[in-house]
Amino acid sequence: MKKNYVDLHIHSPFSLATSKKMDVDNLEIMAIKKGIDILATGDIFHPEWQNILKTKLVEKKDGFHKLKDGKTNFILSGEVSLVFGEVGKKKKVHVLILCKDFAETEKLTKIFSAYGKLKSNGRPFLKMSLKQLSDYIEKETKDCFIIAAHIWTPHYSLFGSKSGFNSLEEAFEGKPTDRLIAMETGLSSDPPMNRLVKDVMRYTLVSNSDSHSPLKIGREVNVFQNISSFDTLIKSIKTGKNFLYTIEFFPEEGKYFYDGHRKCSVSLHPEQTFKRKTICPVCGKKLTVGVLNRVYELSKIHGEFKGETIPFKYSVPLIEIIAAVLKRKDNSPVVLREYYALLDKIGKEFYILEEAEFDLIKKYSGEMLAKSITALRENRVKRIPGFDGQYGKIIFE
Ligand SMILES: [Zn+2]
Ligand SMILES: [Zn+2]
Repeated sequence: MKKNYVDLHIHSPFSLATSKKMDVDNLEIMAIKKGIDILATGDIFHPEWQNILKTKLVEKKDGFHKLKDGKTNFILSGEVSLVFGEVGKKKKVHVLILCKDFAETEKLTKIFSAYGKLKSNGRPFLKMSLKQLSDYIEKETKDCFIIAAHIWTPHYSLFGSKSGFNSLEEAFEGKPTDRLIAMETGLSSDPPMNRLVKDVMRYTLVSNSDSHSPLKIGREVNVFQNISSFDTLIKSIKTGKNFLYTIEFFPEEGKYFYDGHRKCSVSLHPEQTFKRKTICPVCGKKLTVGVLNRVYELSKIHGEFKGETIPFKYSVPLIEIIAAVLKRKDNSPVVLREYYALLDKIGKEFYILEEAEFDLIKKYSGEMLAKSITALRENRVKRIPGFDGQYGKIIFE
């Protein structure tokens, strides 16, 4: 059985705070090293990035795009930041759009240019509602699909505590469009948390990296089998058939798992937040309500989901495990050297994380790393929750 590792959400160098190394050639190299078969281009509505991709990628009949002599199947995709609603009650929602071909992306680019400045950011702000976006996608395109991005992030998401909605009907002003095919869980939530909210589980859950640098692509990823085209991928996402599992962060590692106030180093479990009336005990300002709290809140409205879901496993990027073992930062030269050496000697990152035998890892990298990876596979790690924009921490035994 051939597995397909699919990452549908990344950003180009034209988005804010992204690495200059995020060009197509580097993406191809890193995708191969990690074991990603199908990768989003990201930022497809940015005119300059779109031009680069048009020159470098070859459009294939199966709806994928490849570099000349390349291996990676690229999907034309981009995230947009919708800003809409009344003053004082503004909604801000990030949506991921997947397109089958350049003709369709061009149509949408033209429409979007009337709603925002596409050149100023790879992830453009559009003064457009979810309903408007849905209508354009339905009427103007045949093979474009949408995924609600990182649905629980406090700012900029469908259900976020700061500027999101309480239900899908409210968000889409009625029944959501059929082109909505999935919900992206984001780094701070995992499938068990999402199962607490029935409204979310009407859709397939997907996990993507939302990466801003080539090293971080695939840090969360979807694993399928028998994906031979854009169409079969969309079908698999919709139905769950041939969707084997997702690889997830421990939700504690995400930036918004707990509630808190970063400036005051205050991090609180939702029960504590409730007791403190959502006020920072140090400075008296309002706390940022995180993902766990928001999930509990919506679970009270919608109830729990009891049906079947796609399996998942937790993981941590290999580079972070190496950094923990070497007690260095994950961008330090010695960690990077060790990371690339292991990929050369043992194989692709997902193979090392999921399958490589203890003795093989030990042979090339020592017993500590082999032990840490084994502990990770058995979920034997300590998790320190992230809050208010600060990443959490995973500590290996
Ligand atoms: Zn986003
Ligand atoms: Zn404070």
